[in-house]
Order: sequence, then C-alpha cells, then structure tokens
Amino acid sequence: MSQRTFSIIKPDAVRKGYTAAILAEIEKAGFKIVSIKRMSISKAQAEGFYHVHAARPFFGELTDFMSSGPIFPMVLEKENAIADLRTLMGATDPAKADEGTIRKQFAASIGENAIHGSDAEETAAFEIGYFFAGIELK
Ligand code: GDP
Repeated sequence: MSQRTFSIIKPDAVRKGYTAAILAEIEKAGFKIVSIKRMSISKAQAEGFYHVHAARPFFGELTDFMSSGPIFPMVLEKENAIADLRTLMGATDPAKADEGTIRKQFAASIGENAIHGSDAEETAAFEIGYFFAGIELK
C-alpha cells in the first residue's frame, strides 16, 4: 500500500547546489513528489520541528543549522516510503553511510547531513502537518 513520508533538503545541500541532484536520486528510487517548496525557517520554528530532540546536547547546533538558510521541505509517496527513504538517505553520520546513499554522496558531517526523513508513521504525520496544509497535498 502506498505511504507518505516527509523529507527536507537541508541548508548545507541547498547552499552547495545539490538540490536537483538529490531530487533526481529520490525520483530514481521511485518516490512521487507530492508537494515541495523552498523556504527559510526561524530558530523557533526549527525548535518546534525538532522538539523530540530538545534534551540532546546538539539541539542548539541543530536548530541554528536548520535556520541558517533556505531548505526544501517535501512530501513523498511510494510503497514503504518511510523505511525506503531512510535506506536511501543512509546513516546519520555520512562517514558511516553506505555507498550510493544520499548522505554518502552529498553530506559533509553528522550535523550537516544534507537530508531529513521521517522515522515512523506518527512522526511523518506530525512533520507533514508542520510544513504543509491539506490543500497543498492533493
Ligand atoms: P536522523 O534521523 O538520521 O536524521 O538522525 P537523528 O534523529 O538521530 O538526529 C536528527 C538530526 O540531528 C541529524 O540528522 C543531524 O542533523 C543532527 N545530529 C545528530 N547527531 C548530531 C551530533 O552529534 N551533532 C550535531 N551537530 N548534530 C547532530
């Protein structure tokens, strides 16, 4: 059955001009891009998005980074979308990511790692709703 997930091309990848190459990888892997937009978010908006990580030592760095420049949030659809996007992204630390994954190809460090992808159905639902209105998701 078809499933939706949420992804962000992060500020490091946008700054380096990797947006189109990452979208090409996503489409090549069989995802339909349901909705996408370019925007910048404030530190407070990044804190709201990453609220589950509020207690982590890197929360300040992470939210500074995510509010440091334009991002491309998007909603993606395919069978098994959540797990398959995580596989395509690769490990959080690009040094540990498998060959061919997006993070292996486009990420520089564990913090500035090119792409976000939801890790479960409940987080996907929260994250889609955080960035997109229902009218943008037909
Ligand atoms: P993900 O699901 O693979 O994105 O990883 P996590 O949910 O564990 O962490 C969320 C995001 O926080 C990661 O994608 C990184 O951008 C950031 N992050 C994780 N660990 C670190 C760290 O040790 N230092 C910094 N600066 N950022 C981190």
